[in-house]
Amino acid sequence: MIKSTELRIPYQKINDESYIKDAVSKELKVDLIDINHIERLKQSLDARGKNIVYNLRLDIYIKENYIENQNFFNPKNVSNAKEIGIIGAGPAGLFAALNALEVGLKPVIFERGKDVRERRRDLAKINKEHLIDDDSNYCFGEGGAGTYSDGKLYTRSKKRGNVKKVLEWLVHFGANKNILVEAHPHIGTNKLPQIIQAIREEIVKQGGEVHFNSKVTDFVVENKVLKGFVINETETRLFDHTILATGHSARDIYYLLDKHNIDIEAKPFALGVRIEHQQEIIDKIQYHGRKNDEFLPPASYSLVTQVDDIGVFSFCMCPGGIIAPCATTQNEVVTNGWSPSKRDNPHANSGIVVQINPETLPNYKANDPFVCLDFQKQVEHDCWKAAGKTQKIPAQRLIDFIDNKKSIDFPSSSYMPGIESVNLNDVLPKFIVDKLRQGLIDFGKKMKGFMTNEAILHAPESRTSSPIKIPRDKMSLEHVSTKGLYPCAEGAGYAGGIVSAAVDGMRIIDVLMEKN
Ligand SMILES: Cc1cc2nc3c(=O)[nH]c(=O)nc-3n(C[C@H](O)[C@H](O)[C@H](O)COP(=O)(O)OP(=O)(O)OC[C@H]3O[C@@H](n4cnc5c(N)ncnc54)[C@H](O)[C@@H]3O)c2cc1C
Repeated sequence: MIKSTELRIPYQKINDESYIKDAVSKELKVDLIDINHIERLKQSLDARGKNIVYNLRLDIYIKENYIENQNFFNPKNVSNAKEIGIIGAGPAGLFAALNALEVGLKPVIFERGKDVRERRRDLAKINKEHLIDDDSNYCFGEGGAGTYSDGKLYTRSKKRGNVKKVLEWLVHFGANKNILVEAHPHIGTNKLPQIIQAIREEIVKQGGEVHFNSKVTDFVVENKVLKGFVINETETRLFDHTILATGHSARDIYYLLDKHNIDIEAKPFALGVRIEHQQEIIDKIQYHGRKNDEFLPPASYSLVTQVDDIGVFSFCMCPGGIIAPCATTQNEVVTNGWSPSKRDNPHANSGIVVQINPETLPNYKANDPFVCLDFQKQVEHDCWKAAGKTQKIPAQRLIDFIDNKKSIDFPSSSYMPGIESVNLNDVLPKFIVDKLRQGLIDFGKKMKGFMTNEAILHAPESRTSSPIKIPRDKMSLEHVSTKGLYPCAEGAGYAGGIVSAAVDGMRIIDVLMEKN
């Protein structure tokens, strides 16, 4: 017999199997000897009260044998199958390709960047020499923006079946099994590249193709049908179906779509700063004066408020993390955050961003698809100029920002290229400054200790989601006016994060399978 139950246990007991077995035996009134196996289905930390606990959801195998399911991924050899063109090897492109292997379609991926190993060298150049390669950086290259990230895997995606599949496939390719049960799973930058490489090797082994240094530079469009695309301005490849999964930083793709009169639309997004505290400060706030320890992960937070009906919220919080230079070309600066699997760096960073609607922008013009993108570009460029036209970024202590005065000095920052003291009140657009200031004051009231001059604001956090939408039909997932084109995931406005991007890639393959 298998019985389901829920337990609340002191956090220190999370890895104590015999304590948990005892507790189950008492809870279900079952003899210890009859419990053959306890399967954890979900575990979540509850630190709201002084006594910090883990909530566990368990399946108990009573006098019943447990057989572990390890058969998560069942590919077919697709060497001679129908080809699907995929542009971009981010989570969306790679998971579309994995799903294609399962259903028996041949994925052919074109990625402008390099493989994970080569790509790492270009990231070092950004940090040390302030040099950005337009095709190989924190956003572009094998694994997409997700490779050198925190690898947080939670999502608000409603496609629960596919979310489970994404996590199971990640485990199949080397992720720790814990991600299947934790309420807030994450992988870490040190582990993601090997997993991404294993995924690519499987795609190639099963007869799929992955082409690096292969940038799509033009589309072949005839009578409102996408017939294929041009690689590196020289080679034309034709496909009946093309999945466009180029992420939200591939601005050249938006210009290319516009050039071919393929509809795109301005889309709301969010922009602000990345705040960094010492992790110890965040731990003490969230854990009632405690630090993190062996059983208690470095603490995180999630904050949201409304300022004059505009949302201000924390975004992509990275406990024990590093702020990364995520620009994709030379004359701009962009921040984001990553962390290693143990999240054991001394800083905690998070985006603090303001919701932006196209109509509220100073440069708003009705029917201009580029209104949000232009605004995003301008802010990134202004911040680049303000900090000295390198990959250094403008920064300011939190209370100095509130008080509208330049910081004289700084505590340590994790941002490797370096920070420059700038009054962000003078650099960021006024309406962003006003909303940010009030939002931060609200957050200081919600989290006592958050409002400290030991925290640094780094600017800008500007690539939160795509500033452009590529509209598609709800059922066929095909572009609304151009057949053969399947706008996919974050760059098209249908995902925001690793898991939802992967789910969207898989979904397009499911739809294509029905067609073929
Ligand atoms: C530093 C950092 C940390 C992050 N942390 C997290 C996190 O912890 N959790 C989370 O869920 N999300 C995180 N994100 C966001 C997440 O990475 C993205 O949401 C996700 O990668 C989007 O997937 P995608 O496949 O839609 O696009 P992308 O990952 O952006 O992939 C698009 C790919 O297309 C390629 N491409 C672009 N243009 C062309 C072209 N013309 N020709 C060929 N190829 C092209 C790019 O090189 C890229 O590899 C983070 C992002 C960054 C930058």
